[in-house]
Amino acid sequence: MMGRTHLAFGVLAGLMFMPFYHHNLILYFVLVLIGALLPDIDHEGSKINSIFPITRWLARFFKHRGFFHSIFPPLIIFGALWYFNWGYIGIALGVGYLSHLFSDGLTKMGVNFLHPVANLHLAGFIETGKVAENVVFFAVIVLSIVKVVSLVV
Ligand SMILES: [Zn+2]
Repeated sequence: MMGRTHLAFGVLAGLMFMPFYHHNLILYFVLVLIGALLPDIDHEGSKINSIFPITRWLARFFKHRGFFHSIFPPLIIFGALWYFNWGYIGIALGVGYLSHLFSDGLTKMGVNFLHPVANLHLAGFIETGKVAENVVFFAVIVLSIVKVVSLVV
């Protein structure tokens, strides 16, 4: 999926989990959005690699939608941050990261959540960059707006 769709899913996931988050909410949303782009460091032309070119070399060693599209990186990141008492950072990154895996799971190519250990493949009907992705993108934006309104009113 395109970077903007992942950001939209990140916003929606961030809003859904916001009531359970008890630290700075601006930091929370910044971290959720970084987390929502992070799995695509395994793709050379991705948005995250154009923002932080330093991670681009990783794409040469890791298959796209392989390890970085499994549940293991967010678990490792969360575990490491939690160890240093930065679990609140890990949670926010994790919310974004998992929103990315879920949204890629809606695409035809799909995602193997347990790569490379086992096979737990989730796939849908959406083709990246095609009409269906745009429909999903706008639907997620609308849901996010509805969620914000429900939080404010
Ligand atoms: Zn991805």
